[in-house]
Parts: sequence; C-alpha cells; structure tokens
Amino acid sequence: MLLDVKHFVRNKIRGKLCAALFALAVSFAALNGAASSSSGQPSSPAAAQQATPVPTPAQPAATASGSATQTVAQPGLNIVVLDPAHGGTDLGARGTGGIHESDIVLEFAAQVRTALEAHGFQVVQTRQGNANPSFDDRSAIANAQRGAIFVTLHIASTGVPGTARVYVMNDLASAADATGLIPWDRAQAPFVSLSRKLGDQVQALLAQRFKGSPAVTQTASVRQLRTTAAPAIAVEISSVTIEERTQLDHMAPGVADAIARGAAAFRPTYVVPANPGERP
Ligand SMILES: [Zn+2]
Repeated sequence: MLLDVKHFVRNKIRGKLCAALFALAVSFAALNGAASSSSGQPSSPAAAQQATPVPTPAQPAATASGSATQTVAQPGLNIVVLDPAHGGTDLGARGTGGIHESDIVLEFAAQVRTALEAHGFQVVQTRQGNANPSFDDRSAIANAQRGAIFVTLHIASTGVPGTARVYVMNDLASAADATGLIPWDRAQAPFVSLSRKLGDQVQALLAQRFKGSPAVTQTASVRQLRTTAAPAIAVEISSVTIEERTQLDHMAPGVADAIARGAAAFRPTYVVPANPGERP
C-alpha cells in the first residue's frame, strides 16, 4: 500500500516543526554571537568558561588531512537503502487471515538484501524488526549517504495477483524556490528522471518474470520518495490476501533478483554527486 495521507500530514507537520526549531536555534546562536562580540568582556564567569581558545593554524590542518585519508569513499553507486515499508502499529495493507504487509515486506527485504549483496552493493535497511521509523527518518538514511539509491518495498491489497509494479514520484514542479534552495519535501525533484531510469530497469526485469506486470515504471505520489535526495523507487507486489500468500513467497526470489540486477544495470549510468544530497 503506497499512499498514506495521515502519515504524510503528521510527518509534514513534524518536518516543519523541526525546520522552525532549527531556524530558531540558528537565530538564537547568531544573536548570542553578536552579543558577545559587541561587548568588550564576557558578562559573567560562566560566559568566560564557555569561550573556547582559538586553535592554532597547525591544529585544524592536521585534523583535516587526517580525516580526509580516512573518509575517502569509493566513487560511484555502492549503497542501496532498502526500506521495508510500514512497521510498528502501522501494519500496512491487511489481508484475510491476519496477513500484514508490514511483516511480508520484512521477509522480502531479507531476500532482496542477499541478492543486492551478491551484486556487490552495501545494503542499509531502514528497519530490521517491527519498528516504524518516520518517513523523514527513512529518507534521512538515504540522504546522508553518498552514492546511494533508495528502494521501498510494498505489498498491495489490490492489483492482479502475481504481478509487480515499480513507481517513481510524479514530477515535482519547480524544485528550487526563489533562494535556489530545494525545500525538504521536494528533495526528490532533481532525481525524478534518474529514478525513472532505475525504475524502468527493475520494471523490465519484473515484467519478464511476472506476466501481466507493466512494461514501464508508473508514477504516483509516494510519500517515502518525496523527501529522498537520491534515485528512489517503490516496488509494489500484488497482493496480500491469504490465497496469495504462498504465491507471494514464490515471488520473493524473482523480485529480489529484478531489484538487484536492475540496480546493477543502473549503476554505470549514474554519476554520483560529490556530496550527499547534492543535485545530480
Ligand atoms: Zn505499503
């Protein structure tokens, strides 16, 4: 199940609140800085204790060169952030007989992970057990990486059983605002065409394996993708009813293989930006 308006609204509010608190903290720090630099002396012993000594030029230079040698990453796409959707009290799509999307996607994720690792990818999962990280927390894991793609896994309650669809975010018009900055909730905008490229690779392999699946990627407003600053796709498998549980289990290896081979095919075409979250 891809769409969840309630969570979208809640996370949007949370995100705005965080941004507002951050802005408040920055302006408070700026005010403090202005106040202490305009006064000749620290106003209290506590303020004097807080004053940090100015480092000598040799100190930062040594630190910079030391950390640079340790943090040099391999160029190119290496990491797949794998998101088993839902979790915790959010069960996702529910089938007859007590089947929950949130459980099934975890089982799928284990197989997808193994397939990706066999293709040389490092896999970071947004959740391992029955946790329910926020959408922003899930995106943040991808946004902190350099050279990552994001794949969120869903099981549908509808659709032709035994088929699989890849979704990318529909076009987010005017990515940057007047200041040239991209708002957090449109982080996916610069990556939409890359996401489609990745999605089409995976979808073509799914269509070969699972007859009746679409040939190309679909677009939708998928909350997990919106705030992700990396090539990002949602893979949705049909479906969650009890009669199809065994069929779902049989699909897992094929879905895992399609995602891994699709990501491997996409890898050489993606020039990874220099910094995490930077525009491609
Ligand atoms: Zn879902």
